[in-house]
Amino acid sequence: MSKSFIRLPDDYKIPVSVNDNHVTEKQRSIQIDITNTNPHEYFLNLFWAKDKQSELSHIGKFKLNLMEMVKEGYLRQESSSIIRLIMIRTGTGDIYLRLNKKSPEIHLGNINTRPVMLANLSYNIYSWRAPYINPKAKHEYANKFPGHESLNFNFYKNGIDCDKYVHGYFQWTNDPVNFKEGGTVIFYSMNTEKRIGEIVGVYGGVSILDEPIRMYSEDFENNEAIFSIRAEKNLSMLFPIPMKAEKYKTTSSSRLVGQTGYSYYKEDIAIQIILDQIKMLVNGNGRKDELTKLQKIYEHLTNEILNISELLMNNTEENELYEAFKNDRDAIVKDLNSLEEFDDEQVEVKGKKYKRDLKTIIQLKILRDYQCQICSTRIRKSNGSFYIEAAHIKPKSLRGRETPDNILILCPNHHKEFDYGSLNILEHDEDQIRFSLNKRIYDISLKVE
Ligand SMILES: [Zn+2]
Repeated sequence: MSKSFIRLPDDYKIPVSVNDNHVTEKQRSIQIDITNTNPHEYFLNLFWAKDKQSELSHIGKFKLNLMEMVKEGYLRQESSSIIRLIMIRTGTGDIYLRLNKKSPEIHLGNINTRPVMLANLSYNIYSWRAPYINPKAKHEYANKFPGHESLNFNFYKNGIDCDKYVHGYFQWTNDPVNFKEGGTVIFYSMNTEKRIGEIVGVYGGVSILDEPIRMYSEDFENNEAIFSIRAEKNLSMLFPIPMKAEKYKTTSSSRLVGQTGYSYYKEDIAIQIILDQIKMLVNGNGRKDELTKLQKIYEHLTNEILNISELLMNNTEENELYEAFKNDRDAIVKDLNSLEEFDDEQVEVKGKKYKRDLKTIIQLKILRDYQCQICSTRIRKSNGSFYIEAAHIKPKSLRGRETPDNILILCPNHHKEFDYGSLNILEHDEDQIRFSLNKRIYDISLKVE
């Protein structure tokens, strides 16, 4: 097992153990002496290195209002000069301050932020797979010649593309200097038929070519199509369902794509777009191979496993049950302690019928604070709620009803490890379980209280 540590500006070293999945299992608290600082504007520098020999890399500088955080109950003030916080690093590279009481984490930033660009494509009825001159285009050039981006989503351009890479083009008037290291490009186009802006596809693992590649083609001006970017083929695709771009406009942006032909965005927006496209495909019975590819792109962006089958589950019902019980732990404890093997399959909550097992699982997730029972990870969803999974100790096929003594609440990584790793259950009763998993021993409470 490798060791990592995070360092604070005063050289305070916090060892954090990281398992193979980069999930921390230890939290360390840090004291901040505020005697000589302004606690309303405290700057926290975070560094990390994968081991003690490696050079520290700067994750970022974060401005915190410590007093506000104390007031909100996120931090504890121990004396007039000492504030205590606990840090945790999670699998996605996010840095959280973890608080003493049962309260939400504060999301500070991301180690692995890679740049995202939204780039403009001129509209093409052939889905950017064949040359197309747009008669409705406003620019004279585009009225005369097909844009080089005409071939962006033709992934098998003869003599240009290979198994690994696809080559494309977008117009820029200013060099995209912040993109020299590459990243993700999301393509935007104005659909001139429907008169709406659309997000049409993605290129992942993009690099900008020093020297554009030219391909002979009589369709294009001077008989050549030009390609200025290269992307990884397995991270790139034309979205089966174009998405309304309007949704992704932030209040600060009057137009989605700048006049230079592209705009920089945060990685969040790319993740949101990919996730929305996945949900559209899930709801619209999209093709399996398209879903699988999008899932790969999502996992590449987030370093998180995306459980599609969980998405397929009726999220609405899950949300309704969460809302019904989130503030009522007493009711949860009472319900979970009175589960009977022969109860009805169906159960009524606030006048609506639900599957009893779904209710049990949601109640357990709330009771366990949506935290992994092995590593305490919580995964925040874009809507502010949390994502966590329920793992069966004995496979569901061997048991009847879902009961708290058979369910562990786990993060996706530990769920997979639990299901596929080398598991040996050493002790197991209604209140607790002791097991070894890939040679490590865990004691986990199953108590409902
Ligand atoms: Zn975990």
